[in-house]
Amino acid sequence: MFRIGIGNDTHRLVEGRPLVLGGVHVCSDRGAEGHSDADALSHAIADAILGALCEGDLGLHFPDSDPQWEDVDSLQLLSRVIWLAHERGLSIINVDATVLLESPKLRPYVQSMREKISEILGVELTRVSIKAKTGEGVDAVGQGLAVTAQAVVLMASS
Ligand SMILES: [Zn+2]
Repeated sequence: MFRIGIGNDTHRLVEGRPLVLGGVHVCSDRGAEGHSDADALSHAIADAILGALCEGDLGLHFPDSDPQWEDVDSLQLLSRVIWLAHERGLSIINVDATVLLESPKLRPYVQSMREKISEILGVELTRVSIKAKTGEGVDAVGQGLAVTAQAVVLMASS
């Protein structure tokens, strides 16, 4: 049995916050606003896995109203979500994700992001694709107001 899931996540960019994407600290004068570490890439991948499981979304499992998730490392959330998938007898075939950020350019960070995500998911590096794009100067991403991530995950019965 195969299951597919999609995830999409956006965070506003503000001064005085770190920018963490896929568990990697990106050197930037602005970071993502949010209750946890606001890691849009990890959130999109976790939502895609939850979608494949038909298990709602990240907000349902880790509500912002719960202080235990404040400033939490989102890789921890991702690790709980993959644990749930394994409980359901599903494992990851592959992940394909895109991060949209106007600046800085993410290419130098992509390999580290792939390494962190594949390690948390317990899959080989060749199963995790991460692409980086800009917003071409238009919309909230293009104007440097937000970071967005999109992810698709294919899973199969293990
Ligand atoms: Zn998020």
